[in-house]
Order: sequence, then structure tokens, then C-alpha cells
Amino acid sequence: MATRNYGLSNLTAGYLFPEIARRRREFSAAHPDAKIISLGIGNTTEPLTAHIDSGLTEGARRLGTASGYSGYGDEQGLTALRERIAAAFYGGKIASDEVFISDGAKCDIGRLQLLFGPEVEVAVQDPSYPVYVDGSVLIGAAGEWTGSGYEGITYLPCVAANGYFPDLSALPEDGIVYFCSPNNPTGAVATRSQLSSLVKAATEKGAIIIYDAAYAEYIRDPALPKSIYEIEGARSCAIEVNSFSKPIGFTGVRLGWTVVPKDLKYSGGESVIEDWNRICTTVFNGASNIAQYGGLAALESAGLKEMRELTDFYLGNAAIIRAALEGLGIACVGGDNAPYIWARFPGRKSWDVFAEILEKCHVVTTPGSGFGPAGESFIRFSAFGHRADVEEACRRLPALRP
Ligand code: PLP
Repeated sequence: MATRNYGLSNLTAGYLFPEIARRRREFSAAHPDAKIISLGIGNTTEPLTAHIDSGLTEGARRLGTASGYSGYGDEQGLTALRERIAAAFYGGKIASDEVFISDGAKCDIGRLQLLFGPEVEVAVQDPSYPVYVDGSVLIGAAGEWTGSGYEGITYLPCVAANGYFPDLSALPEDGIVYFCSPNNPTGAVATRSQLSSLVKAATEKGAIIIYDAAYAEYIRDPALPKSIYEIEGARSCAIEVNSFSKPIGFTGVRLGWTVVPKDLKYSGGESVIEDWNRICTTVFNGASNIAQYGGLAALESAGLKEMRELTDFYLGNAAIIRAALEGLGIACVGGDNAPYIWARFPGRKSWDVFAEILEKCHVVTTPGSGFGPAGESFIRFSAFGHRADVEEACRRLPALRP
């Protein structure tokens, strides 16, 4: 019999979101009349917007014609889409052949691990999006579970005391560091000077930054960087992962991209982009052509306007949630340049607060401890909901008062 990949047995029990779903199902079964509202997972809820929808549907229809049909395309994506992404988001800092179209950021985060293999030292913000750690466990780079974390992972606490930006002195030599801004789950956005210090630290330590900008389109403060490549020196130390999921609701359509600059080299001097190209052509066969037509429409002026309106809508939800929580005296961060609000419940366990909110308000949230040890005592509220549900959930929150 084939033996099991040790990485699979080394994963800690249950991925966070299936565990939340299980608890929700259990609660529902015990309280069949409860109208549960989810402010939990970061899944989008609003329909596709008109112009982007027409890009998708026309793309699909074209496949049904002899002249418009296409089969496999370039694994790196449609040239027109790569060009449009380079122009729309990177203002001359990135060439279109450094943009690789994907079926989503999560999938690329998994495939990026193949660049570095099991020996690489990994650092993550704590708390962080679970895939950085779990993907490292799967490839064998995380070491053993100690009960509160993996011994081979450097956790960089992002807490109130450091303004949710980590102390970078612990960055491993010649390692990789996952960095997410706007951050999931804290909603914190790194400033230009903070990102400059990250690029400086990575350069000094020979580390490669894997910068997750999946929520960049939620940034409203013009002083805050939307891409790591706005920072001098980033081209030689950073890969950027991004997605159409959260800005235009493509969570189900599946479309994203990864930028690998030609300047980026491993410690041995080899080219990273050549290896990434090899990985894309070996274990990935390119993103859906239909999805890519949707992406093209999203980057036309009508699509960009819709993107702005949709992200404004979810930010409106975030403002409502944050105001409701602060009205109850609960300290929060996030929600202003990100679709997540990070609420603090000092002295309490996240899962206990999760259970209390479900019990008293019939609202599903996400326990902060699921994102890493420093997330304990926090709850993440997601702004991805219908407005009426968000308002109803906020009307119920006062039941939390002791
Ligand atoms: N990166 C972060 C920080 C996320 O929160 C998510 C989804 O929640 C993703 C990536 C996944 O994006 P995609 O839908 O493109 O796989």
C-alpha cells in the first residue's frame, strides 16, 4: 500500500472554516427556528456586476462559435490580461511577462511552496490566513506541532502593542516570509515606512517575501501602498499574490495572479521566475478562459468603476459592524481599509466568545485563535454579507452585554 504523506497527518485537527461550519450545523440542528446570520467566512455575497458579468457571458458564448473557440491557452494567461494587470495595478514597475494568471490566490500560495521545498525556513504574521502555515505543513517545511504552533515556523506576533506590525528581527536567514496587507484577519494595512522596513529586513537576511495583496482594492487611504512593488528594492526580494475574488466577487469564478519579478534570485543566484514558469507549465494548465474574459472586462473603465462600487458597498458593511461593536464598548481595529473587523475580548478564549455570539445573537463569526496563537481573545467579523443581514446582525449584538 502507498504510504500517506506525513504532511497530511501533521496538519492540526480540522481546517478552521469546516470546523466553524460543523458548529453552525450543530447549533442549527439544536435550534431549528433560529435564523442564523453569518459574519464568518470571507465569502462574497453580492451578485456579479453588469459589465463584468457581460465579459464572462460573452466569453462563454464565444467558445460556442467556430471562430471564437479556444482550447488550452498559454499557461501564463492571456497576454491581453497580463498587460492590463501590469498597467492597472503596477504603473510601470512590473512588466506584463512578470504577471502569471492563476485560478486564484489560494491555489498559487499552495503551488509557490514548490519553489522552496521542505527545507526552507518559513515565517508568518501571527495571526495569519491559515493557508500559509498549512501549506508549509503539507510540503514538510513546518516541523512538528508543539500544541500551540509548529516548531519549524517563525511566528511574528502582530498585536495591539506593536500596532499589528511585527518585529522583523526574528526573520529567518535565507527563508521566506508570508506577509498579508490589508491583513486577513486583523484588517491592518501596513504603511509605506513599515513595508520599507520589511523590504530592508528581507534584503539583509536574504529572505523572499510572499506578499498577499488579495484585499488591496479595499484600501481607501491614498497614503497606504496597494502593492509591495511601490517600495524601493522589492523587485529583488518579493513575489506578490493577488486575486479577483474579493474586489469583484470572483470567489466562485476563480481568477487571480502572481507577480514574479525577473530580478528575484534564490540564495544560489538562480532565477525564480524561470522556476515559476516551469511550475505553471508542469502542474497548472492555465486559468479558465471564460474567467479571464471576465477579468479583462473588470479592468476596462466600466469594470473598474464597478469594482470600486462593490468594494465601497462591503466597506459600508464594515463601517456598520465596527460602529455597532464600538457602541458596545468592544475595542476593534480594521474595517476602514479592509473588509474585516478584528474585535478584542480581553481575558476570554476566542472559541468561548464565538459560542456566546452564536448562542445569544445567532450570528456566526470567526474565532481569532484559528488564525494563530496571537489571535486568542479576538473575533473576526467579516463584512461580506447582504446589507439587511449585516444590519439585523448588528441589531442583535447588544445581547452580548453581560
Ligand atoms: N489570500 C487571502 C489573505 C485571503 O483571505 C483569501 C481568501 O479568503 C485568499 C488569499 C484566497 O483567494 P482566492 O479566492 O483567489 O483563492
